[in-house]
Amino acid sequence: MNTFSSTVSKSTNPTLAVLGFKRQLVYHLHFWAFIAVAPLVVVQWQHHHFLLSGLLVLFAVNALLVIGLLRFRDTYFLKGLLFPLLAVVCAAYSTAINGHAGLYWAYPAASALFFLLPLREAIASNIVFVSVMAVVSFVKFPEADFWRITFSLGLTCLFSMIFAWLVGKLQNELTRLATTDPLTGCLNRSQLADILNSQIQMRERYDRLSSLILLDLDYFKMINDQWGHLAGDKVLKEMALRLRNRLRESDQLFRIGGEEFMLVLPETSQQEGSVLAHQLLTSISARPFLDDVKVTASASIAEVSKGETWSVWLNRADQALYEAKSRGRNQVVGAAGHLMPESQNPDEPLAPVIS
Ligand code: GH3
Ligand code: MG
Ligand code: MG
Repeated sequence: MNTFSSTVSKSTNPTLAVLGFKRQLVYHLHFWAFIAVAPLVVVQWQHHHFLLSGLLVLFAVNALLVIGLLRFRDTYFLKGLLFPLLAVVCAAYSTAINGHAGLYWAYPAASALFFLLPLREAIASNIVFVSVMAVVSFVKFPEADFWRITFSLGLTCLFSMIFAWLVGKLQNELTRLATTDPLTGCLNRSQLADILNSQIQMRERYDRLSSLILLDLDYFKMINDQWGHLAGDKVLKEMALRLRNRLRESDQLFRIGGEEFMLVLPETSQQEGSVLAHQLLTSISARPFLDDVKVTASASIAEVSKGETWSVWLNRADQALYEAKSRGRNQVVGAAGHLMPESQNPDEPLAPVIS
């Protein structure tokens, strides 16, 4: 078991919670489809529809395998693609040979596509499916039935599509709300272990460097005391904006405490990270916030070492930040022996200035 799975439970990691939701959905669809389809294998065999019976056996075996794998391994194969593929083939073929008795199965098959496939693939597959069903019903049934079948199946697809689309949007929105800080839009702590561990894996497997910067505003309590909590909030927002402006696309910005930020910098050495940390401190101290609030921050930089866990890595950075504070603030300190040359930052430590 890796550090990630041992330290972050499904209930605390929103991304894993969504994945768990999808797996449950796949499990239930396969379970109930198996219950419905298994007896049909015998029925179709008795009607001497051996090909259809064989296809239904395939469907049932696939459903059983997926149910078993999800139950015992928490995983499944081919992204659950066999279910929708076999379901639509069986429904179309059964309609062709059984008429209305087969047609009834087209409706659950069409809606299942939207729960098992990504939205675009489900729409494309259903366009093909409804077209095939239209051809089959045109050949098999009177013209009035052909229109009824085509429109009612189309409408079923449309309703399912709207529902699946809205559920997808809701999932994305819930994940965003659970993983970001509403004030600054930065990532919150829920993603911290996940992202630090992915950097550790890059280091272990591919020898890729990665660094993190911890950045804490100096004397922030005084800003709140003197300018009010709302002004403090605005400073935090502006702070996140200034940090974000200097980051690369692949860098990630967290707000991990009240006025403490963390930046994860892939492919960045301690040396490169320290240059960036100095630039960030300058971008904070160079211009006042909210017109006349002067702010400084202290920072630490830590490159990930081989063999360390994310909590040890973060702890090293934390110690260095503590050192930056105790050395007088408004400066960068490198973690664990990588001490930066004294006062590369030209600015003197500043207490907030009220004018
Ligand atoms: P230091 O230089 O040692 O970091 O001093 P500090 O005053 O910045 O640190 P301290 O930990 O003493 O105070 C942090 C303050 O941050 C206290 C708290 O009121 C404030 N704070 C935390 N979260 C928020 C927030 O969301 N909004 C505002 N406005 N203030 C916050
Ligand atoms: Mg502070
Ligand atoms: Mg703090």
